[in-house]
Amino acid sequence: MSQTETHAFQTEVKQLLKLMIHALYSNKEIFLRELISNASDALDKLRFESVSNDALTEGEAELAITLSYDKEAKTITLTDNGIGMTRDEVIANIGTIANSGTKKFLESLSGDQAKDSRLIGQFGVGFYASFIVADKVTLTTRRAGDVAQNATRWVSEGEGDYTLETVEKPTKGTEIVLHLKEDMDEFLDDYRLKNIVTTYSDHISFPIKMIKSEWDAEAKEMKSTGEFEQVNKATAIWTQPKSELTDEEYNNFYQTLSHDYEAPLAHIHNKVEGTLEYTSLLYIPKKAPFDLYDRDRRYGLKLYVKRVYIMDDAEQLMPTYMRFVRGVIDSNDLPLNVSREILQSNKVVDKIRSASVKRVLDHLTKLSKEEDAKDYEAFWDQFGNVIKEGVIEDFANKDKIAGLLRFASTANDGQAQQRVSLQAYIDRMKPEQEHIYYITADTHSAAAGSPHLEMFRKKDIEVLLLSDRIDEWLVSHLTEFEGKKLKSVTSADLKEFEEEAEKNLSEEDKKSREALTEKVKAAISDLVSDVKVTARLTDSPACVVSPEGEMSAHMARMMEQLGQSVPAQKPVLELNPDHALVKKLDTFTDESKIKEWSLFLLEQAQLAEGNQLEKPAEFIKRMNQLLIEVI
Ligand code: ADP
Ligand code: MG
Repeated sequence: MSQTETHAFQTEVKQLLKLMIHALYSNKEIFLRELISNASDALDKLRFESVSNDALTEGEAELAITLSYDKEAKTITLTDNGIGMTRDEVIANIGTIANSGTKKFLESLSGDQAKDSRLIGQFGVGFYASFIVADKVTLTTRRAGDVAQNATRWVSEGEGDYTLETVEKPTKGTEIVLHLKEDMDEFLDDYRLKNIVTTYSDHISFPIKMIKSEWDAEAKEMKSTGEFEQVNKATAIWTQPKSELTDEEYNNFYQTLSHDYEAPLAHIHNKVEGTLEYTSLLYIPKKAPFDLYDRDRRYGLKLYVKRVYIMDDAEQLMPTYMRFVRGVIDSNDLPLNVSREILQSNKVVDKIRSASVKRVLDHLTKLSKEEDAKDYEAFWDQFGNVIKEGVIEDFANKDKIAGLLRFASTANDGQAQQRVSLQAYIDRMKPEQEHIYYITADTHSAAAGSPHLEMFRKKDIEVLLLSDRIDEWLVSHLTEFEGKKLKSVTSADLKEFEEEAEKNLSEEDKKSREALTEKVKAAISDLVSDVKVTARLTDSPACVVSPEGEMSAHMARMMEQLGQSVPAQKPVLELNPDHALVKKLDTFTDESKIKEWSLFLLEQAQLAEGNQLEKPAEFIKRMNQLLIEVI
């Protein structure tokens, strides 16, 4: 008999355990789902490793999970004859939290118990869910292939530490005994346990067995027969024909797979036969996972080859912008010993990926075209910005993805929540309108309130209001849609409107406008690259635009925020000749006064653009001076 060693939990584990124990009661039964999912993973791993090393099966043909309980002792026992763990693996997997997600998990807790408990599984901390129902957990495990004497027993009461002991275990795999808390008797019940198993784990691909009990008429209670029976279907759900599966079965499998508490938005199930043979079962979740924008996020696809589990997080099976897709791909054409490296440049994988992407895009397109596209709107809310990455990342599907894009627009009173598609925009375009107009800004209200929209509003021309970080990149890659060019309303070149405005001008007007711009330009030539009279304003006196061919001001600001050096560029100042302030400026002859007013117009235009002023105090001084003059 070896000595018992005591180890302290990593700090994060302690925090987490505390949380489980004290806060997460509302969804307690998920402990079983988590443990079964681990057992199933362990069986998957054994099956995979035994392909190249038959000795690991230790002569046991059947891979299975058993579940039993003991009313007197108040324990639940779950066993699997899977891969098991070495002592070091126990320490690494169960005493520490290898996954950096845990810290994030702790940070993202809302304090709302129901909500928080649903988050648990997503963060890869499933095992600790045992402590929701147990005040002591004993895990005995032996790595397949090790000698019987080399098993490890881990015991913890879920407080600060756990003990480790080397013990004997004749069979490979893991046995977990949960010593239930006082008020957890509900789980010491055949019916209840079976029900949890079939609800959450029916489609785990291994049999889950429980001891069969029968009604004893004399004793008037259920009595154990001592025989095991299989309680779940144990068929890999994706191998079954669609017609035989219910939505509920699809949803439950999704929840086991993703640890999500909600049903998915959609499932897409396909069996492909022919030159390439594979089955894919893909899910689109309802809610974005917490790590959607993390670099070290996990991917959601599991790869199987001929029913044998190969790997999780198979990122080669989906492009980055589809990282939210969850599911399983089971291929008949890949070798069982396929590695991540092989996946990276494999024709079979490429074909499966492009077909899967197409299926997801087609499904989304279908959702988006539904009469009442509520589901699609909900999807867009959660994943819209990720789909935008697709325009940049996935050249082959650019048009399809562009069709999925949704933007806020002036047509909906500028409301951020109501969005339009590019197609809807085109359908509403004025007969003489050639371009799709948009504006980018840091926030929705900055976009909706921009002076650049004045003329468009007056002419009742719709403008898309873009205010997500990625939008500026998006429009630099998506230059046209259905033959219509996308054009920024802040672009220097709005000839289509200028020509029209100039048509009705007398020669004299033209000359006086030229004189005005020359005058202003001379006054502030060191700050602007040009001064023009504009057609784009109706209410504001002035605005700034980037010179043709140069980076937009919004893009320049974003680059700066990202720490990139942006070459200083002087804006073009555009003046509204019909505005009282500009008219007044035109009457001045005193040079210093012209300069003050020109600066004042430039600075307020810059503010309206969302730019920082270099000398805000001077702007205020100038403004106050002007106010004093009118008092
Ligand atoms: P996750 O399953 O997301 O990795 P868990 O907390 O559920 O997180 O489990 C932690 C780790 O403990 C697993 O990744 C696995 O390595 C190990 N483990 C848990 N249960 C078993 C088991 N029954 N057999 C073998 N290893 C297990
Ligand atoms: Mg797990």
